Amino acid sequence: MEIFKPLDIQKDDHIANIENVEKVRCLIIGSGPAGYTAAIYASRANLKPVLYTGLQMGGQLTTTTEVDNFPGYPEGVTGPEMMDDLKKQAERFGTDVRFGIATAADFSGRPHRVTIDDNKVIEAEAVIIATGATAKYLGLESEIKYAGMGVSACATCDGFFYKGKDVAVVGGGDTAAEEATYLAGLCNKVYIIVRRDVLRASKTMQDKVMNTKNIEILWEHHTIDLFGDNGVEGATLVKKRGTPYEEIVRIKIDGFFLAIGHTPNSEIFKNYLETDEVGYIKTLPGTSKTNINGVFAAGDVQDPHYRQAVTAAGSGCIAAIDAERFLSDLK
Ligand SMILES: Cc1cc2nc3c(=O)[nH]c(=O)nc-3n(C[C@H](O)[C@H](O)[C@H](O)COP(=O)(O)OP(=O)(O)OC[C@H]3O[C@@H](n4cnc5c(N)ncnc54)[C@H](O)[C@@H]3O)c2cc1C
Repeated sequence: MEIFKPLDIQKDDHIANIENVEKVRCLIIGSGPAGYTAAIYASRANLKPVLYTGLQMGGQLTTTTEVDNFPGYPEGVTGPEMMDDLKKQAERFGTDVRFGIATAADFSGRPHRVTIDDNKVIEAEAVIIATGATAKYLGLESEIKYAGMGVSACATCDGFFYKGKDVAVVGGGDTAAEEATYLAGLCNKVYIIVRRDVLRASKTMQDKVMNTKNIEILWEHHTIDLFGDNGVEGATLVKKRGTPYEEIVRIKIDGFFLAIGHTPNSEIFKNYLETDEVGYIKTLPGTSKTNINGVFAAGDVQDPHYRQAVTAAGSGCIAAIDAERFLSDLK
């Protein structure tokens, strides 16, 4: 695969010393839409997958009450209900779903070795990584207080609920510009809260933002708090923080959208897998194949662009089919 550069691989000695070893054909790491969909396809293809859920069984959607855009639910569905449906579907075909966290990996030879909870090694012929990406927050207590009540890290997911309302987007990069432009098509007014006096977004995205009438950029503003009785009703900002012109500004908003980036959960694989500068696992375009044969990546952990439940599920399907073809070629 020419798109991948050779990596300087350092072997993890800790894994070599663990005695509790189990051999499986297909290991799936992660229980979001990507992991469970991979599990549905892999178990139906008789790969007898073992899936480790990680700390967040069901993935990111278990933290939301309304999923309106996943096909097949005409009335919408809650995130936990949807993920329970996916789990049951994967188990119906024989997926062995286990609670456990992948804590280290050794992809230096075959079979691939993944440590679970630091005390057990799974030796797998094929590994599907579906560990997701975690949105970054500012770290305010009020972000936690209003989670799902006005605070969101996904305009595509939640923008619809703010139709005709006033919202703010935090961030100065391409994602913030894209989210703001998307929201401007739905909302009455969109503020972009930018810490500096410039946007990091590309020139094209900047032009788009500047030419959208209902977007207002609040330059050199830091968010310090959110307020409201039954959800977000406004944000408290500091303008020109740390200068003689510092002042407190309050804006009235119904929604507060974070667009300051995500952290892909790929840390433990980084010795072996090629990632981009942020940490998204690189895959061969149009496939789930990583730079290591027999290791596949699906869902948000390899997707800096879309990060939706349905795209994660679709790439989980691709990963299971890629794994099945890889394993049948081994025979
Ligand atoms: C509040 C909120 C609302 C959203 N609403 C929508 C919506 O309405 N519609 C939509 O399409 N999308 C929505 N999204 C986005 C959607 O949730 C994600 O795009 C999707 O869940 C990604 O699926 P995934 O399977 O790639 O990863 P995730 O759902 O993030 O799942 C990752 C899984 O990997 C596991 N994991 C991580 N590290 C390890 C490890 N070391 N070992 C083992 N397991 C591990 C975790 O426990 C988790 O089970 C929303 C996201 C959030 C946060």
